[in-house]
Amino acid sequence: MPSFVIAEKCDGCKAQDKTACQYICPNDLMTLDRNLMKAYNQEPEQCWECYNCVKICPQQAIEVRAYQDFAPLGGNVIPMRGSDSIMWTVKFRNGSLKRYKFPIRLTAEGANNADTIYAGLPEPNFDDLKKPGFFNGPCKAE
Ligand code: SF4
Ligand code: SF4
Repeated sequence: MPSFVIAEKCDGCKAQDKTACQYICPNDLMTLDRNLMKAYNQEPEQCWECYNCVKICPQQAIEVRAYQDFAPLGGNVIPMRGSDSIMWTVKFRNGSLKRYKFPIRLTAEGANNADTIYAGLPEPNFDDLKKPGFFNGPCKAE
């Protein structure tokens, strides 16, 4: 099921040039009605259900409802982002709740991940692109 915006919760990202959901959607599906200041998915049939917009929305205004075969109608999944973790609240049709908390990053918020991930590794050699394997791992096949 594609994403949809709960209009009562959406504040249009306070009229910034680009809303958070527009910024994050890999398929450019989210758009903002500037008269109503509400976002919506302009091509629901193209939605990949990647949950990016759900996770980034600061108002928790976007839902992707799961398919009925594994999440019967009435259930939903709501993320709450922190600076280093995300809490998923899963609500079942019978009203019971389960919460799962996961770390979402290994570096401080705002830090350059590339600096951390590649720290101490040699500079890539572009000739190695022709070889199988990874640039920072042993490459036995020539
Ligand atoms: S990110 Fe959330 S609050 Fe911002 S425009 Fe999109 S749905 Fe509305
Ligand atoms: S779930 Fe993913 S593909 Fe669908 S609208 Fe949100 S960000 Fe775009």
